[in-house]
Amino acid sequence: MWVGTSWKMNKTIAEAERYTRDLLGALDGRDARTTIFVIPPFTALAAVCRIAAGSRLKIGAQNMHWEDAGAYTGEISPLMIRDCGAQLVELGHFERRTYFAETDITVNRKVLAALAHGLQPLVCIGETEQERDLGVAADVLTRQVTVALAGVDRERIPEVLVAYEPGWAIGAAGTEADPDYVAEMHALIGRVVTRTHGLPPQVLYGGSVNPRNAAGFAGRPEIAGLFVGRAAWEVDSFVEVIDAFCGATGDPGGSARTRSRSAP
Ligand code: PEP
Repeated sequence: MWVGTSWKMNKTIAEAERYTRDLLGALDGRDARTTIFVIPPFTALAAVCRIAAGSRLKIGAQNMHWEDAGAYTGEISPLMIRDCGAQLVELGHFERRTYFAETDITVNRKVLAALAHGLQPLVCIGETEQERDLGVAADVLTRQVTVALAGVDRERIPEVLVAYEPGWAIGAAGTEADPDYVAEMHALIGRVVTRTHGLPPQVLYGGSVNPRNAAGFAGRPEIAGLFVGRAAWEVDSFVEVIDAFCGATGDPGGSARTRSRSAP
């Protein structure tokens, strides 16, 4: 199981360092069966990686160019991300597709580059509200995941994380998704990749997840974890999400400490 967060364009280096230390403190003593990851902005990546080095916490970058180096002003390469000490890279987030012209083809180049450089890709896919209402969500997800993973060797699929993040569910204007709908979309993604590569990837869910609704996504074999935005930008709330999800999946480390902390 996986539970992680991207901070998007938030937090100074000092705030990022404080958060990371507090999170490591909160995770201490909790069961390590669930992998926890944090994806800071580039400016804080090296500092967060230094603090998390040797811990159970995995750290990722929010985007990446596919070339190693070159005349690509403002871009960050896989080598630079590795140099910071990160293990993961988030690719194709809905906001990057919407505001920064990210396409399925560029996501695919980035996925291949990430794997070539030993970075674990976290590939975000998801339909818009209009696509959902027009009944083409399955077609959109099929296209996005098929193109994103084109050319990936079958044996690398277990390394790939897919985040299903419908555009209508993410961010302040998002609405909470029904876990049954989410499980259905995850099963579809699993079937598509099984058809193209012979086995399903791990699929995380993201979109308005919070401490109150996190448990509803647990205990479903299609949902391998949660990718959290706003509700994870404060450590206490992130830990509540982790505890709710892990507690509901039967991970004993999740809720034990919360209970003892809140005991009279
Ligand atoms: C996101 O944008 O990827 C996301 C999961 O955001 P939020 O949890 O804030 O909806």
